[in-house]
Amino acid sequence: MTKLTIKQQKFADEYIISGNATQAVEYIKHVLMAKGGYISYMDVIDSVATIASAYTTPIQKQASKLIMRYVFGARRANDIVEDMAVVTDREDALVRRWRNKVLKRDSYTCQHCGSTSDLTAHHISYWSNDPVNRINVDNGITLCRECHAFEHRGETVYNLLAKKR
Ligand SMILES: [Zn+2]
Ligand SMILES: [Zn+2]
Repeated sequence: MTKLTIKQQKFADEYIISGNATQAVEYIKHVLMAKGGYISYMDVIDSVATIASAYTTPIQKQASKLIMRYVFGARRANDIVEDMAVVTDREDALVRRWRNKVLKRDSYTCQHCGSTSDLTAHHISYWSNDPVNRINVDNGITLCRECHAFEHRGETVYNLLAKKR
């Protein structure tokens, strides 16, 4: 994959951490395009491998997903990620078990504010980017509904959660 300089990487990471995926993809696109003009077949292979690995970081996975979205379009990129997933349904018994284990490990307490009501298990490395860590307890953290919504601020999923409760 085209290497970003440390400064560029930090910049991209900050965009991604701040939840502004649109700016992040624009930035990655800009950097990749500025160097050589196109994303190579190997870049795409690397991105898919990054998503499929249990050992790459959330930021690496998120950046890889953005590259895949850029190359394939959002729908096809999502299909590819879903093909790698152990579970694809959020109501799957394995996901329910994951949620229960995360809540139990965190003593049924929001890890951000200490609340003990309206709790949910949040995926640290997002469901949509990280098919292999969807039911990994280490990839979960207990949050109350308010802190969970804050964690997803600026994302479209925020609206879904706010509506869905
Ligand atoms: Zn909270
Ligand atoms: Zn979440």
